Amino acid sequence: MLKVTPILCRPREMDNYAYLLTDEKENVSAVLDASEALPVIAECEKQNINPKFLLVTHHHFDHVEGNILLKQKYGAEIVGAKADENRIEGLDIGLEDGDSFFVGSAMAKIIAADGHTLGHILWYFPEEKMLFTGDTLFNLCIGGLFEGTQEQMWQTLQKIKQLPDDVLFYPGHEYTVYGLRNLQGEAGEKYKEKAIARLQQGRPVAPMTLGEEKQCNHYLKADTFDEFLRLF
Ligand code: ZN
Ligand code: FE
Repeated sequence: MLKVTPILCRPREMDNYAYLLTDEKENVSAVLDASEALPVIAECEKQNINPKFLLVTHHHFDHVEGNILLKQKYGAEIVGAKADENRIEGLDIGLEDGDSFFVGSAMAKIIAADGHTLGHILWYFPEEKMLFTGDTLFNLCIGGLFEGTQEQMWQTLQKIKQLPDDVLFYPGHEYTVYGLRNLQGEAGEKYKEKAIARLQQGRPVAPMTLGEEKQCNHYLKADTFDEFLRLF
């Protein structure tokens, strides 16, 4: 069982989420996308945890800036895409598409996800039914194309669409509010209700299931590349 604690970083500025992951079976923890160190340290102290790994989805500063301090403090290893080895500071372990990586007994499968950047990866835990999407997929939206092409982002989204509907997904930012007005139909109403209730409680909207997202996120709903292109 992987316990997930979202940690809001850079609030009211970029609203990043770092995620503290703990494999409760072997009591091994990791931080995914340590956007900044201090809120992560606060949560680790609260839970009395020394993270062993610092997992990274992509090289952007708002996903890695806490890494070096956390590495020094906890002796944790930084794990990210091999493709990003020259731009993720302090990278210890480089992974490629299809590689497995274990946080204790919890196995992650690495899915290459070019689009937002080249070298962006998704962290997929098939047994735990969890997907960490970084800046590739947000609630009701997708990440901007900083390095990749529309074609590459489309291919990446097709990989996400093939994953099971009951997978919970955890994005890199809280951007849900921007997509709420574009929701349609019965599935859209349900999504909106759930999202607003969580936001009003001061909680992240995540996790939604991929099934909910496939029904409501226009970028996933697009059935053809042409349809997808019309969303830009
Ligand atoms: Zn980014
Ligand atoms: Fe970001």
